[in-house]
Amino acid sequence: MANSVEAKTLDEKTLPRPAEGGCPPSPLTERGTGSGVVQKGSVEIDAEKCKGCGLCTMACARGVLAMSEKLNSKGYTPAEVVKPERCTGCKLCALMCPDVAIKVYKKKQAG
Ligand code: SF4
Ligand code: SF4
Repeated sequence: MANSVEAKTLDEKTLPRPAEGGCPPSPLTERGTGSGVVQKGSVEIDAEKCKGCGLCTMACARGVLAMSEKLNSKGYTPAEVVKPERCTGCKLCALMCPDVAIKVYKKKQAG
């Protein structure tokens, strides 16, 4: 019995093409530097405000944040900064936090 679905061959016309001008800039890099230099930032987490939901750790593609094994005074395991040197200051973690427990400071680049 013949298969009713015809096999299609991918050719240049059917392959997806990148947007004109290339891919959009990553939120992890600063637009306009022309060098792809990663901007540095630093993060402060108020452990007493944190409810341990983990959203910030999922938001951070740089692996800066992780969940602590210690409990805060309310019995939650708060997020903590484990790789501060990798922070770009993108603020995604702070934007994700439903408890406004995160402050991000962007460091100015020398030069
Ligand atoms: S600002 Fe937050 S999300 Fe962005 S790199 Fe730093 S810790 Fe990760
Ligand atoms: S998103 Fe906010 S409340 Fe949730 S773990 Fe991170 S700091 Fe804590």
